[in-house]
Amino acid sequence: MSHVLSTYARFPLTLVRGEGSRVWDDAGKSYLDFCTGIAVCSLGHCPPRLVQAIREQAGTLLHVSNLYRIPQQEELARVIVEDHVRIPGKVFFANSGAESNDGLIKTARKFGHARPQADGSPRYEVLSFTKSFHGRTLGGINATGQDKVKEGFDPMLPGFRHLPFNDLAALQAAIAPETAAILLEPVQGEGGVNVATPEFLRGIAALCKKHDLLLLLDEVQAGFGRCGQPMAWRAIAPELEPDGISWAKGMGGGFPIGAFWLSDRAVDSAGTPLSSLMGPGTHGTTYGGNPLACAASLAVLAEIAEKNLEAEVLRQESRIRTTIASWKLPAITEVRGIGLLLGIGLDTTKFAVPAGKLPAAFVCGKLLEAGLLVPPAGPETIRLLPPLNVTDNEVDEALAIFHRVVSELGEEDAVGSGSGG
Ligand SMILES: *Cc1c(COP(=O)(O)O)cnc(C)c1O
Repeated sequence: MSHVLSTYARFPLTLVRGEGSRVWDDAGKSYLDFCTGIAVCSLGHCPPRLVQAIREQAGTLLHVSNLYRIPQQEELARVIVEDHVRIPGKVFFANSGAESNDGLIKTARKFGHARPQADGSPRYEVLSFTKSFHGRTLGGINATGQDKVKEGFDPMLPGFRHLPFNDLAALQAAIAPETAAILLEPVQGEGGVNVATPEFLRGIAALCKKHDLLLLLDEVQAGFGRCGQPMAWRAIAPELEPDGISWAKGMGGGFPIGAFWLSDRAVDSAGTPLSSLMGPGTHGTTYGGNPLACAASLAVLAEIAEKNLEAEVLRQESRIRTTIASWKLPAITEVRGIGLLLGIGLDTTKFAVPAGKLPAAFVCGKLLEAGLLVPPAGPETIRLLPPLNVTDNEVDEALAIFHRVVSELGEEDAVGSGSGG
Protein backbone atom coordinates (compact mmCIF):
# COMPACT_ATOMS: atom_id res chain seq x y z
CA MET A 1 0.00 0.00 0.00
CA SER A 2 1.31 3.44 -0.93
CA HIS A 3 1.66 6.13 1.68
CA VAL A 4 1.73 8.82 -1.02
CA LEU A 5 -1.45 10.86 -1.44
CA SER A 6 -3.14 9.60 -4.60
CA THR A 7 -3.54 12.95 -6.40
CA TYR A 8 -2.13 11.44 -9.62
CA ALA A 9 -3.50 8.57 -11.72
CA ARG A 10 -0.03 7.31 -12.59
CA PHE A 11 1.11 5.30 -15.60
CA PRO A 12 2.50 1.90 -14.53
CA LEU A 13 6.13 2.92 -14.99
CA THR A 14 9.04 3.35 -12.58
CA LEU A 15 12.00 5.25 -14.00
CA VAL A 16 15.35 4.82 -12.33
CA ARG A 17 17.94 6.40 -14.62
CA GLY A 18 18.25 8.95 -17.43
CA GLU A 19 20.82 10.16 -19.94
CA GLY A 20 20.14 12.74 -22.64
CA SER A 21 16.78 12.05 -24.30
CA ARG A 22 16.58 8.53 -22.86
CA VAL A 23 15.35 7.05 -19.57
CA TRP A 24 15.41 3.50 -18.18
CA ASP A 25 12.82 1.73 -16.03
CA ASP A 26 13.40 -0.60 -13.09
CA ALA A 27 13.42 -3.62 -15.43
CA GLY A 28 16.17 -2.10 -17.60
CA LYS A 29 13.89 -1.19 -20.54
CA SER A 30 14.76 2.11 -22.22
CA TYR A 31 12.39 4.82 -23.45
CA LEU A 32 12.76 7.97 -25.50
CA ASP A 33 11.65 10.79 -23.23
CA PHE A 34 9.55 13.35 -25.11
CA CYS A 35 7.76 14.21 -21.87
CA THR A 36 10.88 15.53 -20.09
CA GLY A 37 9.06 15.80 -16.77
CA ILE A 38 6.55 18.04 -18.60
CA ALA A 39 8.90 20.44 -20.34
CA VAL A 40 11.28 20.55 -17.38
CA CYS A 41 14.41 18.67 -18.50
CA SER A 42 15.16 21.13 -21.29
CA LEU A 43 18.72 19.79 -21.72
CA GLY A 44 17.69 16.14 -21.35
CA HIS A 45 18.63 13.96 -18.40
CA CYS A 46 21.78 14.51 -16.37
CA PRO A 47 23.40 17.02 -18.76
CA PRO A 48 27.07 17.19 -17.65
CA ARG A 49 27.18 20.99 -17.33
CA LEU A 50 24.11 21.08 -15.07
CA VAL A 51 25.25 18.11 -12.99
CA GLN A 52 28.66 19.75 -12.56
CA ALA A 53 27.15 23.11 -11.55
CA ILE A 54 24.87 21.45 -8.97
CA ARG A 55 27.73 19.36 -7.55
CA GLU A 56 30.02 22.37 -7.23
CA GLN A 57 27.43 24.65 -5.65
CA ALA A 58 26.17 21.88 -3.32
CA GLY A 59 29.72 21.44 -2.06
CA THR A 60 30.17 25.18 -1.53
CA LEU A 61 26.92 26.69 -0.21
CA LEU A 62 23.48 25.08 -0.57
CA HIS A 63 21.16 27.57 1.00
CA VAL A 64 21.13 30.94 2.68
CA SER A 65 18.18 33.13 3.59
CA ASN A 66 16.92 35.93 1.41
CA LEU A 67 17.77 38.09 4.44
CA TYR A 68 21.28 38.16 2.93
CA ARG A 69 22.75 38.97 -0.48
CA ILE A 70 22.91 36.05 -2.90
CA PRO A 71 25.33 36.68 -5.81
CA GLN A 72 24.00 33.73 -7.89
CA GLN A 73 20.55 35.35 -7.70
CA GLU A 74 21.91 38.70 -8.84
CA GLU A 75 23.66 37.07 -11.78
CA LEU A 76 20.65 34.97 -12.81
CA ALA A 77 18.37 38.02 -12.62
CA ARG A 78 20.83 39.97 -14.78
CA VAL A 79 20.96 37.19 -17.39
CA ILE A 80 17.17 36.88 -17.45
CA VAL A 81 16.55 40.62 -17.80
CA GLU A 82 19.40 41.47 -20.22
CA ASP A 83 19.57 38.36 -22.40
CA HIS A 84 16.08 36.90 -22.28
CA VAL A 85 13.38 39.49 -21.49
CA ARG A 86 15.41 42.42 -22.90
CA ILE A 87 13.12 44.97 -21.26
CA PRO A 88 14.25 46.76 -18.07
CA GLY A 89 12.75 45.11 -14.98
CA LYS A 90 13.35 43.08 -11.81
CA VAL A 91 13.05 39.38 -10.96
CA PHE A 92 11.70 37.54 -7.91
CA PHE A 93 12.76 33.91 -7.52
CA ALA A 94 10.29 31.23 -6.41
CA ASN A 95 10.18 27.44 -6.53
CA SER A 96 7.40 26.59 -8.96
CA GLY A 97 5.12 27.90 -11.67
CA ALA A 98 2.04 28.24 -9.49
CA GLU A 99 4.00 30.23 -6.93
CA SER A 100 5.36 32.51 -9.62
CA ASN A 101 1.83 33.14 -10.89
CA ASP A 102 0.71 33.91 -7.35
CA GLY A 103 3.38 36.61 -7.38
CA LEU A 104 1.93 38.10 -10.57
CA ILE A 105 -1.59 37.98 -9.12
CA LYS A 106 -0.44 39.75 -5.96
CA THR A 107 1.27 42.36 -8.16
CA ALA A 108 -2.00 42.92 -10.04
CA ARG A 109 -3.75 43.64 -6.74
CA LYS A 110 -0.96 45.97 -5.56
CA PHE A 111 -1.19 47.79 -8.86
CA GLY A 112 -4.97 48.01 -8.43
CA HIS A 113 -4.42 49.75 -5.10
CA ALA A 114 -1.85 52.14 -6.56
CA ARG A 115 -4.10 52.88 -9.55
CA PRO A 116 -7.63 52.65 -8.12
CA GLN A 117 -11.06 53.09 -9.69
CA ALA A 118 -12.53 56.58 -10.19
CA ASP A 119 -14.28 56.39 -6.79
CA GLY A 120 -11.00 55.55 -5.06
CA SER A 121 -11.77 51.88 -4.39
CA PRO A 122 -9.00 49.50 -5.47
CA ARG A 123 -9.07 47.56 -8.70
CA TYR A 124 -8.42 43.85 -8.18
CA GLU A 125 -9.77 41.73 -11.02
CA VAL A 126 -7.55 39.46 -13.14
CA LEU A 127 -9.00 38.38 -16.48
CA SER A 128 -7.72 35.09 -17.87
CA PHE A 129 -8.87 32.60 -20.47
CA THR A 130 -10.69 29.32 -20.95
CA LYS A 131 -8.46 26.24 -21.28
CA SER A 132 -5.66 28.11 -19.52
CA PHE A 133 -3.58 26.50 -16.79
CA HIS A 134 -1.88 28.57 -14.13
CA GLY A 135 -1.10 26.05 -11.38
CA ARG A 136 -2.63 24.33 -8.37
CA THR A 137 -2.31 26.83 -5.53
CA LEU A 138 -5.48 28.71 -4.59
CA GLY A 139 -4.33 31.64 -6.74
CA GLY A 140 -3.43 29.26 -9.56
CA ILE A 141 -6.76 27.40 -9.66
CA ASN A 142 -8.67 30.67 -9.49
CA ALA A 143 -6.78 32.00 -12.49
CA THR A 144 -7.06 28.70 -14.39
CA GLY A 145 -9.90 28.58 -16.93
CA GLN A 146 -10.77 24.91 -16.44
CA ASP A 147 -13.50 23.67 -14.08
CA LYS A 148 -11.78 20.36 -13.39
CA VAL A 149 -9.11 21.97 -11.16
CA LYS A 150 -11.75 23.80 -9.07
CA GLU A 151 -14.26 21.05 -8.32
CA GLY A 152 -14.81 20.73 -4.59
CA PHE A 153 -12.67 23.75 -3.71
CA ASP A 154 -15.42 26.36 -3.54
CA PRO A 155 -15.77 29.14 -2.73
CA MET A 156 -13.43 30.57 -5.33
CA LEU A 157 -11.61 33.84 -4.58
CA PRO A 158 -13.25 37.05 -5.77
CA GLY A 159 -11.62 38.88 -8.64
CA PHE A 160 -11.20 36.34 -11.43
CA ARG A 161 -13.10 35.95 -14.70
CA HIS A 162 -12.38 33.78 -17.73
CA LEU A 163 -12.95 34.77 -21.33
CA PRO A 164 -12.73 32.73 -24.53
CA PHE A 165 -9.14 32.45 -25.81
CA ASN A 166 -8.31 34.30 -29.04
CA ASP A 167 -11.60 36.28 -28.89
CA LEU A 168 -10.64 39.93 -28.66
CA ALA A 169 -14.20 41.28 -28.90
CA ALA A 170 -15.34 39.19 -25.90
CA LEU A 171 -12.37 40.42 -23.89
CA GLN A 172 -12.95 44.04 -24.81
CA ALA A 173 -16.58 43.78 -23.74
CA ALA A 174 -15.61 42.16 -20.42
CA ILE A 175 -13.27 44.85 -19.09
CA ALA A 176 -14.87 46.36 -15.98
CA PRO A 177 -13.97 49.27 -13.65
CA GLU A 178 -12.44 46.77 -11.16
CA THR A 179 -10.27 45.02 -13.78
CA ALA A 180 -6.56 45.39 -13.04
CA ALA A 181 -4.78 42.84 -15.24
CA ILE A 182 -4.97 40.34 -18.08
CA LEU A 183 -3.10 37.07 -17.60
CA LEU A 184 -2.43 34.55 -20.37
CA GLU A 185 -0.17 31.84 -21.71
CA PRO A 186 1.07 32.93 -25.17
CA VAL A 187 0.98 29.19 -25.98
CA GLN A 188 -1.47 27.28 -23.79
CA GLY A 189 0.21 24.03 -22.74
CA GLU A 190 -2.00 21.87 -20.49
CA GLY A 191 -5.19 23.12 -22.17
CA GLY A 192 -4.40 21.42 -25.49
CA VAL A 193 -1.49 23.40 -27.02
CA ASN A 194 -3.34 26.46 -28.32
CA VAL A 195 -1.33 29.36 -29.73
CA ALA A 196 -2.46 32.95 -29.20
CA THR A 197 -2.81 34.71 -32.53
CA PRO A 198 -0.64 37.80 -33.17
CA GLU A 199 -3.84 39.87 -33.50
CA PHE A 200 -5.04 38.63 -30.11
CA LEU A 201 -1.75 39.42 -28.34
CA ARG A 202 -1.48 42.83 -29.99
CA GLY A 203 -5.14 43.56 -29.27
CA ILE A 204 -4.64 42.67 -25.59
CA ALA A 205 -1.62 44.97 -25.40
CA ALA A 206 -3.68 47.82 -26.88
CA LEU A 207 -6.56 47.18 -24.43
CA CYS A 208 -4.09 47.15 -21.53
CA LYS A 209 -2.74 50.52 -22.60
CA LYS A 210 -6.19 52.00 -23.10
CA HIS A 211 -7.62 50.79 -19.77
CA ASP A 212 -4.43 51.04 -17.66
CA LEU A 213 -4.22 47.27 -17.10
CA LEU A 214 -1.22 45.03 -16.51
CA LEU A 215 -0.33 42.60 -19.29
CA LEU A 216 0.85 39.44 -17.51
CA LEU A 217 2.30 36.47 -19.42
CA ASP A 218 2.53 32.96 -18.02
CA GLU A 219 5.61 31.53 -19.74
CA VAL A 220 6.00 28.72 -17.20
CA GLN A 221 5.91 26.02 -19.88
CA ALA A 222 6.71 27.98 -23.05
CA GLY A 223 9.61 30.19 -21.93
CA PHE A 224 13.39 29.92 -22.11
CA GLY A 225 13.87 28.43 -25.56
CA ARG A 226 11.03 25.88 -25.69
CA CYS A 227 9.35 27.88 -28.49
CA GLY A 228 12.59 28.61 -30.35
CA GLN A 229 12.85 32.11 -28.87
CA PRO A 230 14.02 33.32 -25.45
CA MET A 231 10.33 33.92 -24.70
CA ALA A 232 7.28 32.46 -26.44
CA TRP A 233 5.58 35.81 -26.99
CA ARG A 234 8.52 36.87 -29.19
CA ALA A 235 7.63 34.02 -31.56
CA ILE A 236 4.14 35.52 -31.98
CA ALA A 237 4.30 39.31 -31.54
CA PRO A 238 7.97 40.18 -30.94
CA GLU A 239 7.42 43.89 -30.25
CA LEU A 240 5.07 43.20 -27.32
CA GLU A 241 6.12 44.73 -23.99
CA PRO A 242 4.52 42.79 -21.13
CA ASP A 243 4.36 44.15 -17.57
CA GLY A 244 4.95 40.84 -15.81
CA ILE A 245 6.11 37.33 -16.75
CA SER A 246 6.18 34.06 -14.82
CA TRP A 247 8.45 31.05 -15.39
CA ALA A 248 9.38 27.70 -13.95
CA LYS A 249 9.64 24.26 -15.61
CA GLY A 250 12.50 24.41 -18.16
CA MET A 251 14.48 27.18 -16.46
CA GLY A 252 16.02 24.74 -13.96
CA GLY A 253 16.47 21.77 -16.29
CA GLY A 254 15.10 19.53 -13.51
CA PHE A 255 16.13 21.53 -10.47
CA PRO A 256 13.01 23.14 -8.93
CA ILE A 257 13.02 26.89 -9.56
CA GLY A 258 10.47 29.46 -10.68
CA ALA A 259 10.54 33.22 -11.10
CA PHE A 260 8.53 36.25 -12.05
CA TRP A 261 9.68 39.46 -13.68
CA LEU A 262 8.13 42.90 -13.34
CA SER A 263 8.76 45.76 -15.71
CA ASP A 264 10.45 48.96 -14.56
CA ARG A 265 7.98 51.00 -16.63
CA ALA A 266 6.35 53.96 -14.89
CA VAL A 267 2.82 53.39 -13.65
CA ASP A 268 2.06 57.06 -12.89
CA SER A 269 3.06 60.58 -13.86
CA ALA A 270 5.52 60.69 -10.95
CA GLY A 271 7.48 57.91 -12.70
CA THR A 272 6.93 55.18 -10.09
CA PRO A 273 8.28 51.93 -11.59
CA LEU A 274 5.84 48.99 -11.58
CA SER A 275 8.59 46.79 -10.11
CA SER A 276 8.88 49.13 -7.09
CA LEU A 277 5.29 48.35 -6.04
CA MET A 278 6.57 44.99 -4.75
CA GLY A 279 8.93 46.50 -2.19
CA PRO A 280 10.31 45.25 1.15
CA GLY A 281 7.73 43.27 3.10
CA THR A 282 5.27 42.77 0.24
CA HIS A 283 6.32 39.25 -0.74
CA GLY A 284 8.74 36.56 0.35
CA THR A 285 9.92 32.97 0.24
CA THR A 286 12.23 30.84 2.35
CA TYR A 287 13.72 28.67 -0.39
CA GLY A 288 13.21 30.78 -3.50
CA GLY A 289 16.38 31.72 -5.35
CA ASN A 290 18.84 29.95 -3.09
CA PRO A 291 22.42 29.57 -4.37
CA LEU A 292 21.89 25.95 -5.50
CA ALA A 293 18.75 26.65 -7.53
CA CYS A 294 20.28 29.74 -9.14
CA ALA A 295 23.54 27.95 -10.00
CA ALA A 296 21.50 25.22 -11.69
CA SER A 297 19.43 27.67 -13.71
CA LEU A 298 22.51 29.70 -14.71
CA ALA A 299 24.06 26.51 -16.12
CA VAL A 300 20.89 25.67 -18.07
CA LEU A 301 20.52 29.13 -19.58
CA ALA A 302 24.23 29.31 -20.48
CA GLU A 303 24.03 25.95 -22.28
CA ILE A 304 20.92 27.00 -24.23
CA ALA A 305 22.68 30.19 -25.34
CA GLU A 306 26.11 28.74 -26.13
CA LYS A 307 24.78 25.74 -28.07
CA ASN A 308 22.31 27.98 -29.92
CA LEU A 309 19.52 25.60 -28.96
CA GLU A 310 16.77 28.01 -29.95
CA ALA A 311 17.74 27.57 -33.60
CA GLU A 312 17.89 23.80 -33.05
CA VAL A 313 14.36 23.87 -31.63
CA LEU A 314 13.03 25.56 -34.77
CA ARG A 315 14.93 23.14 -37.01
CA GLN A 316 13.46 20.13 -35.19
CA GLU A 317 9.97 21.66 -35.23
CA SER A 318 10.11 21.90 -38.99
CA ARG A 319 11.44 18.31 -39.34
CA ILE A 320 8.63 17.01 -37.09
CA ARG A 321 5.92 18.94 -38.92
CA THR A 322 7.16 17.81 -42.34
CA THR A 323 7.28 14.16 -41.28
CA ILE A 324 3.85 14.11 -39.65
CA ALA A 325 2.26 15.89 -42.63
CA SER A 326 3.75 13.26 -44.96
CA TRP A 327 2.00 10.42 -43.07
CA LYS A 328 -1.56 11.55 -43.89
CA LEU A 329 -2.84 9.44 -40.98
CA PRO A 330 -6.63 9.76 -40.52
CA ALA A 331 -6.32 9.61 -36.71
CA ILE A 332 -4.24 12.84 -36.70
CA THR A 333 -6.14 16.08 -37.27
CA GLU A 334 -3.39 18.67 -37.00
CA VAL A 335 -0.16 19.74 -35.34
CA ARG A 336 -0.43 22.84 -33.15
CA GLY A 337 2.17 24.78 -31.19
CA ILE A 338 5.51 26.50 -31.64
CA GLY A 339 9.03 25.10 -31.47
CA LEU A 340 9.18 21.99 -29.30
CA LEU A 341 5.91 22.69 -27.51
CA LEU A 342 3.82 20.75 -30.00
CA GLY A 343 0.36 19.24 -29.73
CA ILE A 344 -0.85 16.51 -32.04
CA GLY A 345 -4.64 16.59 -32.34
CA LEU A 346 -6.38 13.20 -32.47
CA ASP A 347 -9.53 12.44 -34.46
CA THR A 348 -11.22 10.29 -31.85
CA THR A 349 -13.81 8.98 -34.32
CA LYS A 350 -11.03 7.09 -36.14
CA PHE A 351 -10.15 4.61 -33.37
CA ALA A 352 -11.78 2.85 -30.44
CA VAL A 353 -11.02 3.94 -26.89
CA PRO A 354 -11.70 1.59 -23.95
CA ALA A 355 -14.55 2.70 -21.70
CA GLY A 356 -13.51 5.09 -18.95
CA LYS A 357 -10.32 6.24 -20.71
CA LEU A 358 -9.64 9.60 -22.31
CA PRO A 359 -8.39 9.19 -25.90
CA ALA A 360 -5.10 11.06 -25.45
CA ALA A 361 -4.22 9.26 -22.20
CA PHE A 362 -5.07 5.94 -23.87
CA VAL A 363 -2.75 6.65 -26.81
CA CYS A 364 -0.01 7.89 -24.46
CA GLY A 365 -0.24 4.52 -22.68
CA LYS A 366 0.21 2.70 -26.01
CA LEU A 367 3.20 4.90 -26.88
CA LEU A 368 4.73 4.20 -23.49
CA GLU A 369 4.47 0.43 -24.10
CA ALA A 370 6.19 1.01 -27.45
CA GLY A 371 9.06 2.94 -25.81
CA LEU A 372 8.08 6.61 -26.20
CA LEU A 373 7.11 8.83 -23.27
CA VAL A 374 4.77 11.73 -24.11
CA PRO A 375 2.14 13.53 -22.00
CA PRO A 376 -1.42 14.29 -23.04
CA ALA A 377 -2.66 17.90 -23.21
CA GLY A 378 -6.38 17.77 -22.57
CA PRO A 379 -8.53 14.82 -23.71
CA GLU A 380 -7.68 14.79 -27.43
CA THR A 381 -4.15 16.10 -27.83
CA ILE A 382 -0.76 14.46 -27.42
CA ARG A 383 2.13 16.72 -26.56
CA LEU A 384 5.67 16.42 -27.85
CA LEU A 385 8.11 18.03 -25.42
CA PRO A 386 11.55 16.61 -26.25
CA PRO A 387 14.72 18.12 -24.79
CA LEU A 388 15.78 21.28 -26.65
CA ASN A 389 19.00 19.46 -27.65
CA VAL A 390 17.28 16.33 -28.99
CA THR A 391 19.15 14.81 -31.97
CA ASP A 392 17.88 14.06 -35.48
CA ASN A 393 18.15 10.32 -34.84
CA GLU A 394 16.14 10.57 -31.62
CA VAL A 395 13.41 12.60 -33.32
CA ASP A 396 13.28 10.12 -36.21
CA GLU A 397 13.10 7.17 -33.82
CA ALA A 398 10.33 8.78 -31.76
CA LEU A 399 8.32 9.63 -34.87
CA ALA A 400 8.71 6.08 -36.18
CA ILE A 401 7.26 4.75 -32.90
CA PHE A 402 4.48 7.33 -33.05
CA HIS A 403 3.61 6.42 -36.62
CA ARG A 404 3.54 2.69 -35.89
CA VAL A 405 1.37 3.02 -32.78
CA VAL A 406 -1.10 5.47 -34.30
CA SER A 407 -1.43 3.43 -37.53
CA GLU A 408 -2.12 0.29 -35.50
CA LEU A 409 -4.81 2.13 -33.53
CA GLY A 410 -6.80 2.56 -36.71
CA GLU A 411 -6.35 -1.11 -37.67
CA GLU A 412 -7.45 -2.38 -34.29
CA ASP A 413 -10.56 -0.27 -34.65
CA ALA A 414 -11.27 -1.67 -38.11
CA VAL A 415 -10.83 -5.24 -36.84
CA GLY A 416 -12.91 -4.49 -33.76
CA SER A 417 -15.83 -2.98 -35.63
CA GLY A 418 -15.69 -5.82 -38.22
CA SER A 419 -15.96 -8.58 -35.65
CA GLY A 420 -18.55 -6.61 -33.71
CA GLY A 421 -20.92 -6.56 -36.73
C1 LIG B 1 2.98 23.76 -15.21
C2 LIG B 1 2.39 25.08 -15.35
C3 LIG B 1 2.09 25.87 -14.22
C4 LIG B 1 2.27 25.36 -12.82
O1 LIG B 1 3.59 25.11 -12.53
P1 LIG B 1 3.96 24.27 -11.20
O2 LIG B 1 5.46 24.32 -11.17
O3 LIG B 1 3.40 22.90 -11.39
O4 LIG B 1 3.33 24.97 -10.06
C5 LIG B 1 1.61 27.15 -14.42
N1 LIG B 1 1.42 27.64 -15.67
C6 LIG B 1 1.70 26.90 -16.77
C7 LIG B 1 1.51 27.51 -18.11
C8 LIG B 1 2.17 25.60 -16.65
O5 LIG B 1 2.42 24.88 -17.74
